[in-house]
Amino acid sequence: MLFRVISWIVLGDFLFSATLSYAGQPAMLDNLPAMSKQVLQTERPREIVTYDPGTGAELGRVPLASPEEVVEAVRRAAAAQPAWASLSFKERAGVILKAREIMLGQTEELATLISRETGKPISEAISMEVVPTLDTMHYFATHTAKLLRPQKIDIGQYGLMGRSSRIAYKPMGVVGIISPWNFPLATPADEVVMALMSGNAVVLKPSELTPLTALKIGEIFSRAGLPEGLLEIVTGDGSTGAALIDARVDKIMFTGSVATGKRVAEAAAKHLTPVVLELGGKDPMVVLEDANVDNAARGAVWGAFANSGQACASVERCYVHESIAPQFLARVLAETQTLRQDVGINEDTDIGAMSNERQLRIVEQHVADAVERGAKVVAGGKRTDNLSGFFYPPTVLTNVDHGMTIMRDETFGPVLPVMTFKTEDEAVRLANDSVFGLTASVWTKDIARGQRLAERIEAGTVMVNEVLYTHGIAQTPWGGIKDSGYGRTHGRMGLLELVTPRHIHVNRISGFPDLWWFRYDPAAHKLFRGLATYFTTGSIIRTARLLPQMIRRLFAPRV
Ligand code: NAD
Repeated sequence: MLFRVISWIVLGDFLFSATLSYAGQPAMLDNLPAMSKQVLQTERPREIVTYDPGTGAELGRVPLASPEEVVEAVRRAAAAQPAWASLSFKERAGVILKAREIMLGQTEELATLISRETGKPISEAISMEVVPTLDTMHYFATHTAKLLRPQKIDIGQYGLMGRSSRIAYKPMGVVGIISPWNFPLATPADEVVMALMSGNAVVLKPSELTPLTALKIGEIFSRAGLPEGLLEIVTGDGSTGAALIDARVDKIMFTGSVATGKRVAEAAAKHLTPVVLELGGKDPMVVLEDANVDNAARGAVWGAFANSGQACASVERCYVHESIAPQFLARVLAETQTLRQDVGINEDTDIGAMSNERQLRIVEQHVADAVERGAKVVAGGKRTDNLSGFFYPPTVLTNVDHGMTIMRDETFGPVLPVMTFKTEDEAVRLANDSVFGLTASVWTKDIARGQRLAERIEAGTVMVNEVLYTHGIAQTPWGGIKDSGYGRTHGRMGLLELVTPRHIHVNRISGFPDLWWFRYDPAAHKLFRGLATYFTTGSIIRTARLLPQMIRRLFAPRV
């Protein structure tokens, strides 16, 4: 079988609560139904049990891969990679497009699994995961050949000496992908597709909270005919991720929290393994006085509450010009009140459960800290108690300031804190007053003004009159600055992270030595002084003054 699930999986009945525990290491026992407690108390070692966070039902169990199993997976991937790299882009694209077709045919099944494993609304599982993944598959299957076409480099005056340079892009080998739980399909699948299209093999270590979606990705590629070993999936927790780094893959694509990102960078540095870090955010939304208030309010509500705010690019801070603040806030509240919260698999659910209790507790702490320091809760603000899973209602806060945790740390929950500002400069200062720099948005009808402001905001992506969604654009680079990480995924920049550029340099005139080779003598010394003065200006005309000296040196008698 092509994709090797390390040992076995039992998919339980899809029912209820999204947390996970390893057998013998029970977590959150008090919050789980009796049946789940029994499951957690089994003696079976090294397995992960996943639950639906909206209901508490066990969804399935997967193995917790040991370091030895991870090393084996990397070995299989390395063995399979050269043959895959020798295929043409078209041949690789054939497999990706076949997988795309299978995924499309399984949209409902896949969205149901994602919804149950994360708690997110099934509609969002389609719109924010399946749709962008299918789009990414199509884009990289049809464009990678062009994006990685060898490139000729203009080498200036060296070109006149019969030399030429080009860059050929070669696969790195085995790419290790370590992914989080909040977009369990889109985040890893996009990177899998890009890595495979650029000729690499992949070992994927999904989040311990969402292993089943990752295994589904493996199954889809397997059915599409991807040769064995090219997509290895090692299920497990942080120790499995650490083992993957220590297994010395050729690149690590890590998506997750800042704290883990730092550990990953440190561990990878021991092997000099290059890393892309896609980390957290505290993304600001700046609403100028000339914005379309209705649409900005709707954008804020979706940007802050989609996926229960558990997106790295969620709106986590909202700054509104004081002149439109009352109107904006009224629209935000009206919109928030229309949102329906329920288990994710109901088609008319807008806000599902949060994916795990740890995250829910962080949200509660941030809101409590804000309230204690004088924030006003104008919507939500308390755990939803008429639903039994990990539900937190869409929450809007005012009277907030940058002394509060809610304005500084990543909340990763359905909370929209709103602050006012008086001037553009103040808005930029507030937006940039953060250790994070993932995405940001500016809202205005004056597009030129919006673009000017966008360039002043410190973030990897700044949108004008848009919010959250550009991870879904396969063509554009995705990544952050500051504590939000480094490196990029998606677009040509993302592909370049997955290949090594090889500089091929050719001298077509093979019968003459270079001017700077031995021997050195006073004439050579004088010519080199001339090169320093004229050649390095880039001017052919000025360099031409040296021609007689160059010719004399080239034809000087040799012993
Ligand atoms: P996390 O850092 O806890 O875990 C991420 C992954 O790293 C998991 O697979 C985990 O098992 C693994 N891991 C944990 N310890 C490890 C170690 N020592 N070595 C190697 N791997 C290890 O993050 P999370 O809670 O799963 O995800 C939420 C975070 O991810 C948020 O901060 C969010 O902003 C961020 N995120 C960022 C992006 C982005 O594109 N920038 C996208 C999605 C999520």
